[in-house]
Amino acid sequence: MQHVHSFAAGQWIAPGAGARSIASAITGDVIADAGNDALDVQAMLAHGRDVGGPALRAMTFHDRAKMLKALALHLREHRTALYDLSYDTGATKSDHQIDVDGGIGTMLVYASKGRRDLPDAHVYLDGVPEQLGRAGAFMGQHICTPLQGVAVHINAFNFPVWGMLEKLAPTLLAGLPAIIKPATATCYVTEACVRLMLDSGLLPVGALQLVSGGLGDMLDHVDCQDVVTFTGSADTALKLRGNANILSNSVRFTAEQDSLNASVLGPDAVPGTPEFDLFVKEVQREMTAKAGQKCTAIRRIMVPQAQEQAVIEAISARLANVTIGDPRDAATGMGALVSAAQKRDVLDKAAAIGAEATRVFGDPDDFAMSGSKGAFVPPMLFHCADPDTATRVHDTEAFGPVSTVMGYRDLDHAIALLNRGQGSLVASVITHDGDVARAVAKGAGAFHGRIYFNNRDSMAEATGHGAPLPHMVHGGPGRAGGGEELGGSRAVMHYMQRTAIQGSPDILTAIGNRWVPGATEHADKPHPFTRVYGDLELGDTFNSPSREITLDDIETFAHFTGDTFYAHMDDAAAKANPFFPGRVAHGYLLLSFAAGLFVQPDPGPVLANTGLDNLRFMKPVQAGDSIKVRLSVKLKTPRNDEYGEVRWHVTLTNQDDEQVAEYELLTMNAF
Ligand code: NDP
Repeated sequence: MQHVHSFAAGQWIAPGAGARSIASAITGDVIADAGNDALDVQAMLAHGRDVGGPALRAMTFHDRAKMLKALALHLREHRTALYDLSYDTGATKSDHQIDVDGGIGTMLVYASKGRRDLPDAHVYLDGVPEQLGRAGAFMGQHICTPLQGVAVHINAFNFPVWGMLEKLAPTLLAGLPAIIKPATATCYVTEACVRLMLDSGLLPVGALQLVSGGLGDMLDHVDCQDVVTFTGSADTALKLRGNANILSNSVRFTAEQDSLNASVLGPDAVPGTPEFDLFVKEVQREMTAKAGQKCTAIRRIMVPQAQEQAVIEAISARLANVTIGDPRDAATGMGALVSAAQKRDVLDKAAAIGAEATRVFGDPDDFAMSGSKGAFVPPMLFHCADPDTATRVHDTEAFGPVSTVMGYRDLDHAIALLNRGQGSLVASVITHDGDVARAVAKGAGAFHGRIYFNNRDSMAEATGHGAPLPHMVHGGPGRAGGGEELGGSRAVMHYMQRTAIQGSPDILTAIGNRWVPGATEHADKPHPFTRVYGDLELGDTFNSPSREITLDDIETFAHFTGDTFYAHMDDAAAKANPFFPGRVAHGYLLLSFAAGLFVQPDPGPVLANTGLDNLRFMKPVQAGDSIKVRLSVKLKTPRNDEYGEVRWHVTLTNQDDEQVAEYELLTMNAF
């Protein structure tokens, strides 16, 4: 028997008074216990806030991203230990891959996004500076900084690893320590994963704590710098979000709860098309993966009325081929539910659905594992003949391999039925018709956190209706809890505070570590292209001499490049255009001359010009005008041990000091 520990304020705490026992999903035998009423939850909060938080906030986003990568690789190395433990949760090997490998993959995506989308700094700049005064001496900038509390993550039983890591990755990347409270039924897998992370020595002290068993009165002590996230049932979510302390301190609370996800067979996807077969395959997979215990599983199957029978037959045929049994057996396609209690709950909910729909596949009293002590149920497919008057099929989440087929008259009817779920995590539409896709996106987008379209063109690469991806938002409105997780760096911002900063360009530059136009320029140093990355400071500026543009320059450039557009070649035609006073120089000629004006030609620390962003041509330049260039160091981002990226603010002005062009130039500069 395993004693599942908590990890509180740096100590592993064994189960004690109030511990709950945990049974194997396969045999029903008690295999572990967890929980201790004496856990000092206030000390845990203090440890996270006072020790973990400051250590994480001392690191930059890039430091934390590198830490996530190392953690993920460490977990990957030891993942078989997690697989071995997971069988007793009822999960098969392919289920573990969703849970364990999916969690590790999510962490790796955050590790890479952290280095690509976030700065190597402590402050995240949200958007561009806003000019608030006439002359640019008073500016605004939104910034995000990490909250100074703790994230309390309360997770569901179905994904003991992914459920933890998908929340932990953005939390740590933001710079916030976490207290994980897994569902007791599967907490022995989470505990093993937490031990691996702590034993790796990669995390700062206090960054990660674990509550195995009950959470005690922790939520009565969270404050405005803490975040509480929850995944589980709507009833528990309602109870927790209504906690007086959470309400009175405006503690951030996000929930991901019951969701009546649906899949729609497009009107075009008739039997014989690749889309019809794809639909049947996706539905069967979603019903049986994790024995249907997935928050994104398909609960409602919407098909054109003419296809109801064909779909029922095709799905039933595939379900009949799924072997139910001990998940350790390689031939098993679907394992057990997590517990006897969960089995009772699923059968009760299936019975409620059965009051307004007919069961057309799967008899829980008569299937291969009927006599087992484990929490086995067969996949159960229902058919609801009247989805307009039915209510339970739209509001009852049987958290197991249970789904209901319903027919729709036309696309508007399908959209109305989709939205009867009153908010879901994901809806899918299998169609090859762009008009169908557009109508569903417009008609149902507001009710669903994600809409997954798939067809013959995308099916080879598509990731599946049920797979939340770290790049894309996971969460949904209404019944789905109203929360939002994942979605790239959006999720990181959930653990940070957005603050509007107002002040002079120098003040904004100092805070954001990004030079703001109008801030001090240092123009008295040697040419910046002669200085290595480390010697460049924000605001280091090069002012070029000026160069006159001649008609000959324009004609030579036109014939050399082949760009003989009339605005450069034909004075009368150019004048007739509302933008030009007559023949004008090519914008790209100005850029080329600008490079000639600012470049320092000798071999030196500038290794390559890698791009150009935000280019604007503001005023035409004609023969006889002259231009000069100002180049200022705007932002520096290290890329590896040898070089870093320098973003230069470049301004072209004419003989009257009017801006004619502006852009950001990117170079790689040696250290
Ligand atoms: P619960 O809502 O009971 O539990 C979810 C989490 O909340 C668990 O970690 C649980 O801990 C914890 N919890 C419960 N009560 C409290 C409390 N008073 N204070 C602090 N934490 C608490 O859901 P279950 O996991 O038991 O699943 C029940 C049903 O929820 C499923 O049948 C399904 O319908 C739905 N569900 C929906 C999911 C979704 O994302 N759509 C995901 C998972 C479940 P403990 O285990 O220790 O009680």
